[in-house]
Amino acid sequence: MEKIINEIMRKNIGDIKVSPSMSRYTTYKVGGKASLLVYPKNIESLISLMEIIDKYNVKYFILGNGSNVLFSDSTYDGIIIKLDKFDDIEFLDNNKVKVGAGYSLIKLSLECARRGLAGLEFASGIPGTIGGAIFMNAGAYNADMKSVVKDVLVLTPDLKVITLTNSEMNFNYRESFLQHHKGYICLGATLKLRTGERNILEEIIKERKLQRKRTQPLEYPSAGSVFRNPDGLYSGKLIEDLNLKGYKVGGAMISPKHANFIINTGDAKAKDIKEIIDYVKEKTKEKYNITLRVEQRLINWDDDLKK
Ligand code: FAD
Repeated sequence: MEKIINEIMRKNIGDIKVSPSMSRYTTYKVGGKASLLVYPKNIESLISLMEIIDKYNVKYFILGNGSNVLFSDSTYDGIIIKLDKFDDIEFLDNNKVKVGAGYSLIKLSLECARRGLAGLEFASGIPGTIGGAIFMNAGAYNADMKSVVKDVLVLTPDLKVITLTNSEMNFNYRESFLQHHKGYICLGATLKLRTGERNILEEIIKERKLQRKRTQPLEYPSAGSVFRNPDGLYSGKLIEDLNLKGYKVGGAMISPKHANFIINTGDAKAKDIKEIIDYVKEKTKEKYNITLRVEQRLINWDDDLKK
């Protein structure tokens, strides 16, 4: 790793952190260390970094705000790339906004409402980045990124910068092209919104904030909903009906407030959370013959679900 660090510094790619603990960079606040974390300054620096990664054949992972990932407690023997510097934003004509992959989705949602731009109210409680939200096709209240994305700026595995249209992004329920095409990195996106009324939009956002506070355990570290909803069903309801609210392993617990959330009560290890995930999957299979699919990305586990 020393050679890599030297090359990254020599090429002035951006700030780095050596041996960062993933518990500091994820909303579950669990996870082991990684070898290195890099904040590329811009697209050119990112391309140089990807060339170095390729040259040394080292593993890498693009991390947004870490609000949908569960890193294992083991050391991630690779490079974590954070696009925090890709935070440019430009409001264009015809209700369009061009925004960098590292920009906060919540911040964007609030800013759009303030400007009377409608369409992103669903996102005001989703603590991700634009890149993470597009990768996940994040959504709520019957809306998702698919409903607002015009096109996405992407770095391809052969380091070309291309634009993918909304339909090329193959958005589906919590799915996108990026999940199924390894090595593609979201650099930013242009969103197409609608004209709205600031007061109404801000009122919707305020109401939903209260609703989330009432129904979700926001006072504890978590990564939002753990399982995808099976067709026509709610994972939370299935888990609740198994009487698993409050089920604990070590410092992790199925939230008594929302059964599809696993919370870190203070001293959880990643393995505690993973054990609960496996237990819930086993019990739902046993009781309902349903195989629940984990929405969160499991990173650096033996049975890594990352594609
Ligand atoms: P990360 O968790 O950092 O990464 C998620 C995945 O995206 C990883 O595989 C990562 O490699 C990939 N990725 C990130 N950035 C890029 C990029 N630039 N290019 C390519 N790949 C990238 N989600 C919902 O959909 N709806 C909700 O209502 C919701 N509510 C939540 C509430 C709480 C309290 C919390 C903690 C989470 C919630 N989530 C919800 C989950 C999460 O916030 C979203 O999935 C969010 O979009 C993840 O964004 P992120 O930047 O944190 O991505």
